[in-house]
Amino acid sequence: MKNKVIFLVDMESFYVSVEKADHLELNNRPVIVSGDPERRSGVVLAACSVAKKHGVKNASRLGEAQLKCPNAVVIRPRMQKYLEVSLQITNVLERFTDQVEPYSIDEQFLDVTGSQNLLGLPWEMAKNIQEIIKKETQIQARVGIGPNKFLAKMACEGFAKKNASGIFELNANNMKQFMWTLPIDKMHGVGERMSEHLCKMGMRTIGDLATYPLSTLKKRWGIPGQVLWETANGIDASPVIADSHSNQKAIGHAMTLPRDYSSKSDIKVVLLELCEEVCRRARSASVMGRTVSISVHGANVGSPTGFHRQVTLLNTTNNTMDVYRTALELFERFWDCVPIRRISAGLSNLCSADSVQLDLFNNVIRKRDLDYTVDSIKNRFGDAAIVHASSLTDAGQAYHRAATIGGHYK
Ligand SMILES: [Mg+2]
Repeated sequence: MKNKVIFLVDMESFYVSVEKADHLELNNRPVIVSGDPERRSGVVLAACSVAKKHGVKNASRLGEAQLKCPNAVVIRPRMQKYLEVSLQITNVLERFTDQVEPYSIDEQFLDVTGSQNLLGLPWEMAKNIQEIIKKETQIQARVGIGPNKFLAKMACEGFAKKNASGIFELNANNMKQFMWTLPIDKMHGVGERMSEHLCKMGMRTIGDLATYPLSTLKKRWGIPGQVLWETANGIDASPVIADSHSNQKAIGHAMTLPRDYSSKSDIKVVLLELCEEVCRRARSASVMGRTVSISVHGANVGSPTGFHRQVTLLNTTNNTMDVYRTALELFERFWDCVPIRRISAGLSNLCSADSVQLDLFNNVIRKRDLDYTVDSIKNRFGDAAIVHASSLTDAGQAYHRAATIGGHYK
């Protein structure tokens, strides 16, 4: 089989670059995007290269950043705008292949294996991509190239972001020379805790991990240990999964209540049940979503009450509590205290859950383990086998719905 050619295309200082493209007068000035410009305790979400030259770092306190760079222009983030530009960039990338997978708001994976005959060598395509993105959005893109997603990501993080061309390729031939010399905490998917563990076991570089006895790692961590070792050796089979970003795909679940619910604590109980059901279906379909929606309706069809609201998150998720917290925020913001009879929750803007495998070792995994454990108990022993404690209250519908399988609640 022909070697794959995968790109990871990343935008330099994305939020700030979008702001600078929109405000040409800011061109050579230090610019910081920060959650709450009025509060010095806010966090720097993005800083431009001019601000970074003054020592401003992403994720530092705004007050601290302003001490280092007193004349920085501080801008409040405009997430909707950044999402729009992100989609615009997806559209550019789709001219090169139909296999485009948005990975985060400013990073997208491409499988350009089939595009080479038509569009040239990987390096030429990468340069073209940079030029078109620059021309159409004024944003500088960096491209990591590899035979799989992991090496493409490492090529970008470790090298393309640091060299003059903004392009770098990692492959089986140069992996040892370049990637293996990087410190272990620079390995994608290895969080702070994991890298401490590995250091204690004597592994300081990615190469140390790659040449560590596999059997020891497997004994210690099981399959995740093996995956870790394989990725350090440049092995990663996860495919680029094209995602029609504006897709209609959505997972929703609605519940008609046995009576009017008018207390917030009761409604919270059923909202959690709904989010659990939606997320469970997302997990079993191996998808995650970025947009959370809720609808509520009153009992009286003659005088309709209620609302539908949605919000788009920065990261995709299928975690029950993530979705519940978001849905609850929407509810608390928009509910006018009119009693409700029907309520629904939805997750849309879906993409494959596989890309998360790269993040196997950050703390997402604990949350995910809990979700999947709950799912497998329900799959084996029935929906009522495990429920949130809140479902045991009078407001809870989980038991009743479990008893009416095939009934009209499902
Ligand atoms: Mg970036």
